Amino acid sequence: MRPDRDFTIFKCGDILLLLNELVERGMKLGLIMNLKSIIDCHSHSNYSADSQMLAHDGVRSALGAGIGGLAFTDHLDIDYPNREYNYTFDFDHRSKFLDELRNEFSGKAKILKGLELGFQPHIIDQAAQIVQMNDFDFVIGSVHAVDGYTLSENAGYYQGKNKQQAYLRYLEEVYNSVVGMDCFDVIGHIGYIRRYAPDEDRSLQFIDYRDVLDMILKKVVDKGKGIEVNTSGYHYKGLGTPIPNFDIIERYKELGGEMLTIGSDSHQARYVGNSFMPVLQRLKSIGFNYVTYFEERKPVFVKI
Ligand SMILES: [Zn+2]
Ligand SMILES: [Zn+2]
Repeated sequence: MRPDRDFTIFKCGDILLLLNELVERGMKLGLIMNLKSIIDCHSHSNYSADSQMLAHDGVRSALGAGIGGLAFTDHLDIDYPNREYNYTFDFDHRSKFLDELRNEFSGKAKILKGLELGFQPHIIDQAAQIVQMNDFDFVIGSVHAVDGYTLSENAGYYQGKNKQQAYLRYLEEVYNSVVGMDCFDVIGHIGYIRRYAPDEDRSLQFIDYRDVLDMILKKVVDKGKGIEVNTSGYHYKGLGTPIPNFDIIERYKELGGEMLTIGSDSHQARYVGNSFMPVLQRLKSIGFNYVTYFEERKPVFVKI
């Protein structure tokens, strides 16, 4: 028998109104977080050699996820060991393009001009010059290559090293990046090696690498920089945690760290803002009352 729709008690519009009302009440009671001021501070448009994401799609996805906008942090990895990838882009061209995008989404989404700067010891001066000459809002300092090997695309780095040795050498290089560079705002994805290491166990707990992690985090705090909470761990090979792990973020807090950005590291629009709600709730329970984004290289603190 065909159901008679006239007898439906709630019409679709009624249910949406009810849901809206519940969400608003939840926000007032602090049970649901309002994400409208939260910015996804790590994403890659097709200005990055490894991404096809159209910036328009990224912005629409951010709005769909209920967040306030995003930073396009396209790759600059000078002298990247895998020559198949050319990790740089036309900075002026992207800047003008993002100006137009800002106009198009004016009043709807915040769009920031970011950069993910790949560290290697011999590129520091060249990178600093590029950062100084351009109008970036925000710079993430990342380690994607160590000792002339990429961590992601070939096995060379891992040869002759057990897990502990491979992770430790990577973390030493993260420390070197914090000491050696000044032209960044936050250190990206501490624990990036977890995405690609060949070991079955790809955990990186604070307790197992505490000396070098303490050195990194203390230096970050001393230099007045921040760290990134990278949610790609939830959509990359099911790591099931952010990068870095929450125990490392807790330690950062203990050492006086206050500046945290949150970013999805999206290379596809569907991941923009991914897992932000549970991660922000957890950050709040750790004791962080704010997350940060950067505009014209200055931190803006957003209450969570
Ligand atoms: Zn990265
Ligand atoms: Zn990235």
